[in-house]
Amino acid sequence: MVHAPPRPTPGLPPVRVNLYSDTQTRPTAAMKAAMMEAEVGDEQAGLDPTIDALCERMAALMGKEAAVFLPTGTMCNQISILTHCRPGDAILAHRTAHILTAEGGAAAALTGAQIMPLEGADGQYSAETLAAAFNGGSRYDMPQTLVEVEQTANLGGGTVWPLAALNAVADMAHARGISTHMDGARLMNAVVAAGVPVAEMVAGYDSVWLDFTKGLGAPLGAVLCGSASFIDRAWRWKQRMGGSLRQGGICAAACLYALDHNIDRLAEDHANAAVLARGLAQIEGLKVKAPQTNLVYFDTTGTGLTAGEVTAALRQHGVMMSVMGPHLGRACTHLDVTRTQVDEAVQTMRQVLAA
Ligand SMILES: *Cc1c(COP(=O)(O)O)cnc(C)c1O
Repeated sequence: MVHAPPRPTPGLPPVRVNLYSDTQTRPTAAMKAAMMEAEVGDEQAGLDPTIDALCERMAALMGKEAAVFLPTGTMCNQISILTHCRPGDAILAHRTAHILTAEGGAAAALTGAQIMPLEGADGQYSAETLAAAFNGGSRYDMPQTLVEVEQTANLGGGTVWPLAALNAVADMAHARGISTHMDGARLMNAVVAAGVPVAEMVAGYDSVWLDFTKGLGAPLGAVLCGSASFIDRAWRWKQRMGGSLRQGGICAAACLYALDHNIDRLAEDHANAAVLARGLAQIEGLKVKAPQTNLVYFDTTGTGLTAGEVTAALRQHGVMMSVMGPHLGRACTHLDVTRTQVDEAVQTMRQVLAA
C-alpha cells in the first residue's frame, strides 16, 4: 500500500525536509546544463546520438549485449514481462514486489500474466522457496516462464540481495528453462552498498533495468538491458505502447550526467539513512528497521498512532515522510537531503511524538 504524496495544501508550512521519496529530487543546475548541450535527433528513427550513447554505456556497464531507453521503470518492468511472457503465463516474484503491489495490475492487464507471490524475509526469497513453488509443468499447470527479483528490495526495507542468493535463484530458474528479470530501480544503491561490480551482480539475469529518477536525480528515464534479441523484441513493445521518443536525448543527457556524478555519492545517502535510523530508534514508541541503503522503515504501533497520523503531524512541521502501511512509515534519503536536515527530521519526530 503506497499512498499518494500530500498535495500542496494552503495553510501547511513549506516542506523543509523532504524524506518522502528519492523520486522527488530536482535536476541540479549542472545537470540542466548537460541537458541543454545534448546533441539530439529523432529517436524513433534511430537518430538520437545521446540516447545511443546512454544505451551503449548502460549495456557495457551491465555486461549485456544491448539496451533501450524508456521513460520510466514501470515501463521497463512491463515491457520485459510482455517480452518474456505470453497470456496465461506465471511470474514468480516476492509477494511485496513492485510488479505485484504498485503497477496497477499491469502484468494481468497488459500481458495477461499472473504473478505467484513468494514468501521470505526482507523482500527476498531463497532458491529453495523458489524450487518449492515450481509446478509439474503438466497441461493443468500455469506455464511458469519468468522469475523476478528486486534489487534493492523496496518494501523489504531497501535491502540488498547478496550476490550468492541472486545467483542461486537465477541458476535454479535457468535449470528449469525459466527466464530471469531484475527490477533494478535502486540497483546502484545495492552496488555501492555491497561493493560488488554491477555486471557481476546482474550476470544471472536475462533482463535488468536501472531507474535514473530514484537516487540518481534525473527528471525522467530508465534503461532496460538484455541480449540483442531481447532488446529487439522489447523495442517492438516500446513502439506499440507509444514509448518511442523524438529528441529524448535531452533526458538521456541527464542520465549520462547522473552516471558520471551521482553514483559514488549514494554512499552519503546510505550514511544519512543510518544516522536517521539511529536517531529515530532512540525515540520512545518507534521501532526502526536498520537500513542497508537509503530507505528507513519504521513501525509506529508503540506510539499509539498510525503511520498516517505521525506523517500528518510531521508535515505540519515541514517534514515529509511516506506511509507504507497502517503502522508502517518510510523515510528516504537522497541527494536533496543533507545531514543537517536529517538531524532536523529526528528532532521534529521527537517533538511531534512528545506532544
Ligand atoms: C519506483 C520503482 C519502480 C517503478 O519505477 P518508475 O520509474 O517510478 O516507474 C519499480 N520498482 C521499484 C522497486 C521501484 O521502487
